[in-house]
Amino acid sequence: MEGHSSVKLSLCTSTTGTRHRAMAAPAPPRLPTACPLPPIAPRRRPARRLRLFPPPAGAALPLRNASSAQISFLRKRAFSSGSPAGSFRAAAGAAGRRGGVVSSPRALIGSGAQGGHAPSSGRREGASPPPPRPVSIGSREKVGGAARSDLSLRVGGVCEGNVFPGKSRVVPFLGSSRVSLDMGPLRAAAGGLRRSGGRAAPPAGRSRKGASLRRGAPAPPPTRHLFSDPAEIAALRGDLLGWYDRCKRDLPWRTLAATELDTDRRAYAVWVSEVMLQQTQVATVIDYYNRWMQKWPTLQALAQASLEEVNELWAGLGYYSRGKRLQEAAKKVVSELAGQMPRTAEDLQKLLPGVGRYTAGAIASISYRQATGVVDGNVIRVLCRLRCIGADSSSPAVIDQLWDMANALVDRSRPGDFNQALMELGATVCVPKAPLCGECPVKQHCRARRRVEKELAFTSQQLFGKPTPVPDVEDCGVGGCPLCPPATEPWDSSLGVTNFPRKAAKKQPRVARTASCVLERRGCHGAPEYLIVQRPSSGLLAGLWEFPSLPLAQGLQEEEERQALADHLQAWMGQPVVAKGLQFIGEVVHIFSHIHQTYVVYSLPLDGDVTLDPASSSSRWVTEEEFYASAVSTAMKKVLKACEKQHRKESSPGKGSKRKRGAKTQGASSSGGGTQLSLYTFLRVPTAP
Ligand code: SF4
Repeated sequence: MEGHSSVKLSLCTSTTGTRHRAMAAPAPPRLPTACPLPPIAPRRRPARRLRLFPPPAGAALPLRNASSAQISFLRKRAFSSGSPAGSFRAAAGAAGRRGGVVSSPRALIGSGAQGGHAPSSGRREGASPPPPRPVSIGSREKVGGAARSDLSLRVGGVCEGNVFPGKSRVVPFLGSSRVSLDMGPLRAAAGGLRRSGGRAAPPAGRSRKGASLRRGAPAPPPTRHLFSDPAEIAALRGDLLGWYDRCKRDLPWRTLAATELDTDRRAYAVWVSEVMLQQTQVATVIDYYNRWMQKWPTLQALAQASLEEVNELWAGLGYYSRGKRLQEAAKKVVSELAGQMPRTAEDLQKLLPGVGRYTAGAIASISYRQATGVVDGNVIRVLCRLRCIGADSSSPAVIDQLWDMANALVDRSRPGDFNQALMELGATVCVPKAPLCGECPVKQHCRARRRVEKELAFTSQQLFGKPTPVPDVEDCGVGGCPLCPPATEPWDSSLGVTNFPRKAAKKQPRVARTASCVLERRGCHGAPEYLIVQRPSSGLLAGLWEFPSLPLAQGLQEEEERQALADHLQAWMGQPVVAKGLQFIGEVVHIFSHIHQTYVVYSLPLDGDVTLDPASSSSRWVTEEEFYASAVSTAMKKVLKACEKQHRKESSPGKGSKRKRGAKTQGASSSGGGTQLSLYTFLRVPTAP
């Protein structure tokens, strides 16, 4: 049985900095320095050395000081010799036939003519040879500057690793595990073995493809969470694309992507739309997109724009760094890439600042028809429901799985349309709270829906008193599945398909208070003018304009806040500001993605101009119209609106002019006659007072 086999690793290398480094290492004895290998042309970088200890029994070639090039030569020679005992493949196979007792790549290399390995004291020695075990050499990467390889051993039971002579460590694992070792000297051998197909065959019934070679990747998830049937994939693609052709929304970026003949302009048009659509609703984006493309129809035009212009156009769209990064990337394409957009998703992500995996995939698939998937919030929701993925959908393991799934599903002939169709489905049908499963074009492929239907059928049969078998709840089993809902949060029948996806609890936004003062004067035509200042060029709302503001410490009393603001204005304007002269307007609440911001709004009418400290931020007087056309945040627009509303109240007779402290201009609940009653309250028999 696989579950009780063992694997022995005998490695002579240092394990410093790895998960298995707990053992002290005796210094290995020196080996003969002569190397019989032919000389290799010098390399620019010093080759890694392969050290052998202890010398494998009957080793044909002492490999101490052999460079990776020499190892490569040796490997080729072993293969070309045609001698099964002399090849890595044979060595690996032999190791497998010995019951998964694998010494190490060096032993496989050094075993040469004997096809054997360094003797080890593993618990399997002397046991009758079980069937071949799969052994795979996993990916390699640089970790913390140290070369490291992962040796992935797909053998169940116990992994016993002799990391140093005479020392061993037992690492239990199930089904498949991964042993990380500092294997710099073994990289060449491991890589060679991997490239040459030196892995032993996977067990019957399991494809090699299923054995993930990524570092830290868990065992492949059960097929319940995958799209493994090619016929189903083809049907899903057809259903989804057919629906998309019939029902897709008419959007300006789609029109441009379909009609623009110039590849760079097309990619640019898609890029702008994808950046704007991040975290923002389609309906909001359309107007911004049209104005943007009208003003900067090409990369070259955008590269020549100033950041101020970009911020002005972006004002109100939120997440202002997106516009800034877009413009920086456009400048880079023009100045460093001769105005030509990178042509693959990989290059887009690598070469353009601010372009992540999703944006790169979207641009490449829509503009260049590269068959690459995309994963955004909508796709996550749809895929999690289609395949009942209930593990935390923001975890890296689940995200990786979803990317694999998206890449497998994407239609090879219409990748851009397929990706857009999947996102469109998530945005219009498979919505977060009340999905329209009845209208869904892929409902017959949806396992979440199937589960709901089974439960409904079971319940209705019970209602009619029919003997019913317990429904197949389609769980993967008890625990262990990396994609099923956690045992602590099992399937909830009342939620139906909205059981999926699930996310870890969101971090509460930070609470912040800021005092803001609307400094106002009469302009030359009697119209009010407001003083605005520019924020720093980095950080939150970088480079945007705002009313003079001061972040407040928590827990200050009203008078303390007012005094702090007066002091701030006085220092800034260089003239006395009396705290009592500041008129309290109200509080404006604005939620940023991670901050619950409250602006405590005051106003201060001025008789004339003020002389501002030249060392402080840029400032200017603007009319109301100019204010709204400037690069100001939505929060500041709310502040001005609150101020104007208060002034209107004051100027209209019969209405109170003083606002009470704590009165909010937004989100304040109303009470009294206008309050809408619940049905229960409405029907309730009134009680005597
Ligand atoms: Fe989403 Fe329902 Fe369609 Fe499943 S059937 S993909 S849950 S809309």
